[in-house]
Amino acid sequence: MTPNDAEQALTERLEQLRARYLERLPGELAELDALQGTLTGLEQDRDVLAELEQRLHKLAGSGGSFGCPVLSSAARALEQRIGGWLEANEFSLEASARQSLAEDIAALAHTISESPESPAASVLPADRAIADEARSIWLVEDNADLGWQLGQQLESFNYRVRWFRGVDELKRAIENQQPDLLLVDVTLEQGRENATERLADCPEIQALTCPLIFLSAHDDFPSRVRAVQLGAQGYFLKPLDVPRLVNRITQIFEAQRAPPQRVLIVDDDADLAEYMRLVLEVAGMEARVLETPQEIMDTIAAFRPELVLMDLYMPEYAGTDLAGVIRQHEAYTNLPIVYLSAETDLERQIDAMRSGADDFLTKPIPDLQLVAAARSRIARARQLEEYISKDSLTGLLKHASIKEAASREVLRARRIGRPVTLAMLDIDHFKVVNDTYGHAAGDVVIASIATLLRQRLRQSDIIGRYGGEEFVAVLPDCEAEHARQVMEDIRLNFASLEFAQLGERFGCTVSIGLACSGQYPESDGDDLLVAADEALYAAKRGGRNQVQQPPPSFARGKTN
Ligand code: GH3
Ligand code: MG
Ligand code: MG
Repeated sequence: MTPNDAEQALTERLEQLRARYLERLPGELAELDALQGTLTGLEQDRDVLAELEQRLHKLAGSGGSFGCPVLSSAARALEQRIGGWLEANEFSLEASARQSLAEDIAALAHTISESPESPAASVLPADRAIADEARSIWLVEDNADLGWQLGQQLESFNYRVRWFRGVDELKRAIENQQPDLLLVDVTLEQGRENATERLADCPEIQALTCPLIFLSAHDDFPSRVRAVQLGAQGYFLKPLDVPRLVNRITQIFEAQRAPPQRVLIVDDDADLAEYMRLVLEVAGMEARVLETPQEIMDTIAAFRPELVLMDLYMPEYAGTDLAGVIRQHEAYTNLPIVYLSAETDLERQIDAMRSGADDFLTKPIPDLQLVAAARSRIARARQLEEYISKDSLTGLLKHASIKEAASREVLRARRIGRPVTLAMLDIDHFKVVNDTYGHAAGDVVIASIATLLRQRLRQSDIIGRYGGEEFVAVLPDCEAEHARQVMEDIRLNFASLEFAQLGERFGCTVSIGLACSGQYPESDGDDLLVAADEALYAAKRGGRNQVQQPPPSFARGKTN
C-alpha cells in the first residue's frame, strides 16, 4: 500500500465513522432534550443533572473526534455549567436557569451544521520519511579480513556499515546510538569467546529494538537455540554466503514497510463484526466485514484477504458452508480460515474444521488474542508464499510468477486506462564472469543486481528473476520515458558497483529493453514481454550497457 492509498483508506474510514456518528446524533440530542424536560426544580433533580453532565461530557469528547467542533465546545460549556451546580450541591434550579439550560440544549442541534466538511486533514499522518534512506548496519566481527570484506559488500548495497572488533566496543557505542540492524559473529576470538553469552549478559544489548542476525562458524544446536532466545532473525554459517545474507537483510528491512495485513471478518452480528474490525485496524491491519454471504468470493477476489475470520452459526449460511465454498477454489488453497464462534463443544468444533478451516477460536476473545492470532497466522502465510513464489538467491519472483504479474498488470492497466511498462534486463558477458571468477562470484553479481532493483524501484513495482541472469521488472502506472530514466539510473549504478574475488576487483554491466503498454494498446502481457525482449536484444546488438525501447515501426508491425 502506498502512502497515498493509506491516506485514502484512513480518510474513507473517518468519513464512514463520522457519517454513522452524525446519523446517531439527532437521537442522542433528542434524549438529552427529553432528559432536561424532566427537571422539576426540586432536590431530586440531582440524578438527572448528573446524567446530563455525563452525556454532555461524552458529546464534548466525541464531537471533537468526529468533526463537530462547535457542538463539542457548546457541549463542553454546558457540561461545565452543570458540573458547577453539582459541585456546589445546587440541585434545585430556578425556573430561569432551567429555561436557559433547555434553550441551550435545544440549540446544540443547530451546531451540527456548523461542522467543517471533513475532519480528516487534522489527523492524517505526516508524509513518511523517504524509505530508501541508507540504513545503518553494525557489524561485530573480530576477523579483520571478513569484517573488512563484508563491510565493503554491504556498503555496495547502499548500507552504512560500522564495524566493531568485539562486544565491549559495541556496548560503548550503543550508549549514544542505535543501528537499524545488528550483525554479530557469535564465535569471536577464533571461537574462544561465545558472543551469545556476552550478549545475553548485557542489558544494553538486550534493550536494543533493532533486528539481530548471527554469523557463526558452528552449526551446533545449543547455539541455534540461544540465537532464537536472543531474538535473532537469522543464523548464517561461515564461510558466509554473502548474497543470501544480503538478501535476508533486505527482506527484514522490506518487512518493516510491508503492506498492512488484510483480514476478512464474516459474522452476522454487525456490531461485533465492526468492533473486531476496529480492533484489528487499531493494531495496524486492514480489516473488512463481509456484508453479503453470497458475495464472499467476489469480496475475496477484490480485497485479497490473508486471513478469514469465520463465524460458525449465521442465519442464511453456516460458516462451514462458506469455508467449503472457498476451498472449492484452487487459487485459495492456502488462504487461512479460522473459525471464531461461541461454540465450545469440542466435537462440534472438530467437525466444523473438516470443512477446510485451519483453527478454531472461541468467543468472547480478548482483543490481544484476536490480534496475536491474526498476526502470526498471516506472517506465516506470507513467509510460505515467499518460499513458494520467490527465487532463493535473489528473493525475487520466479519465472512463472513474474509472467503472471506481467499479464495481470497489463490487463489492469488497460482497464483503468493507465500505462504499464515492462523492463527486461540481462547481465552483459556474464559467462566471462563465471569463467574468470567462478560461479560463486557470479552469484554475488546476480544477487547484487536484484538488490539494486529492489532498492531503486517503487514498492508497487514487481520484480522477478526471469532466467539465470535475466530479470523482468513490471512498472505499473509508468510511462515509457519515466521508465527509461529509472532504468538508466539503475544501469549506471550497477556499472559502478565493484566486485571482489580472490583479491581481484571487477565490474559488470547490464543491457535493458523496455516496452510500454501505451505503444501496444492491443497487446497482452506475453506480447509485451516479447517486445521488451526484442528491445533488450537491440541493446545487446547496439554494444550492450544501454537501455533500448522498441522502435515505433516495431509497435506498428506487432499490431497490424
Ligand atoms: P550476453 O551479454 O550476450 O548476455 O552474454 P552472456 O554471457 O551473459 O550470455 P549467456 O546468456 O549466454 O550466458 C548466461 C550465463 O549465465 C550462462 C550461465 O551459465 C550463467 N548462469 C545462469 N544462471 C546462473 C546462476 O544462477 N549463477 C551463475 N553464477 N551463473 C548463472
Ligand atoms: Mg547475459
Ligand atoms: Mg542471458
